[in-house]
Amino acid sequence: MDFPYLIGWAALSVTLGAIIFGAGRRLGREEEALRIRRQDDGKEAAFYFRGLNFLLADEPDKAIEEFIKFVRINSETVEIHLSLGKLYRARGEVGRAIRIHQNLIARPNLSVEHRTAALYALAEDYRQGGFVDRAVDAYRQVLNVDPEHRAALAGLQGMHENEGRWDMALDVLKRLEKVTRAPDPRREAHIRVRMGMEIQSRQGSGVVSDEAMDHYQTAIKVFPGCVEAHRLLGEAQLTQGRTRGAIKSFEALKTSRPSHFFMLAEALRRAYERDGDPGGFEKCMNEAVHAFSSSARLVVYRARMLEEQGRLVEATELLRAGMAKHPGSLGIICPLIPLLAKQNLWQEAVATAQRQLDRMLAVQHAFQCARCGFKAQDIYWKCPQCLQWDSMEPL
Ligand SMILES: [Zn+2]
Repeated sequence: MDFPYLIGWAALSVTLGAIIFGAGRRLGREEEALRIRRQDDGKEAAFYFRGLNFLLADEPDKAIEEFIKFVRINSETVEIHLSLGKLYRARGEVGRAIRIHQNLIARPNLSVEHRTAALYALAEDYRQGGFVDRAVDAYRQVLNVDPEHRAALAGLQGMHENEGRWDMALDVLKRLEKVTRAPDPRREAHIRVRMGMEIQSRQGSGVVSDEAMDHYQTAIKVFPGCVEAHRLLGEAQLTQGRTRGAIKSFEALKTSRPSHFFMLAEALRRAYERDGDPGGFEKCMNEAVHAFSSSARLVVYRARMLEEQGRLVEATELLRAGMAKHPGSLGIICPLIPLLAKQNLWQEAVATAQRQLDRMLAVQHAFQCARCGFKAQDIYWKCPQCLQWDSMEPL
């Protein structure tokens, strides 16, 4: 059984237990009532405990049958219906969950609290069932009653994202952030990027409005490490012929997110080239690859460039330094070995390859249990996972 499933069962069991307890207490009021109720109560308890036993025996279908019998006797109890509906949804039986929740909502004397809970549950059913419009509508109804319902806000926000309705997604995100007081800058930045992209795609290529660029700029302000915002802003500035601005936009990522800066290196090269300043690019890259925070991917990008320019010695130096900084990085070793070979540095090439193979061998599993698949570097005569004796074979 998976986790949401278990939670569903746990919630149901607790609710049913509370109801039996409550029913038991009510019994004490009158002798005659006690006698009559005791029969019913005995029946309820029997269904409940049979259900619980089936549940413990991992037989959810039979358990659900018993719980339904319980629900028939206790048809007024809203919590049981809510729990049962949740359980059906967790099992993927969305249709049944929807029916339960719709019936609840149709009750004339339902409290506001229960109606809201049932509406939210119905929204979740619709979402899981793929009924987008109905889910959105149900979330909105929940929020009409309780504008600070966090789960409904989060659900609605997610629906708008899935639909690609970015302005609405942003609007609901702002409401959610206000309620939770937990800002989500990465989400906001990417929503703003999408809003800008949408404006740009409406306008067609070759034109970039200030409105689109405003979105990219806000995205960067909200989350300075947003690669897409830097890239799109820089590209837009290039389209407008503002090469210095583009250079600044691409380069900003070097400090705000050095791990991802390599993703904009090629765009930056183009911008410098168009600006007629290839030396500027050279200088920027030298700083970036030798910075403390430089990534292996950036080192490889720069080394490839140097190699293309025939600067083999510099490229080799850079990769050697990169290897010392990022030991075991295949991205660096793969271009380094042929580069060494190209310069007839065979001994170093072989030694580098050997070192890497040793490193890989050291972390590779050498034995595997033929019974359960457990893997280990050393042999276990008794498998620690399935406890079988002498079941491990060399790989
Ligand atoms: Zn085993």
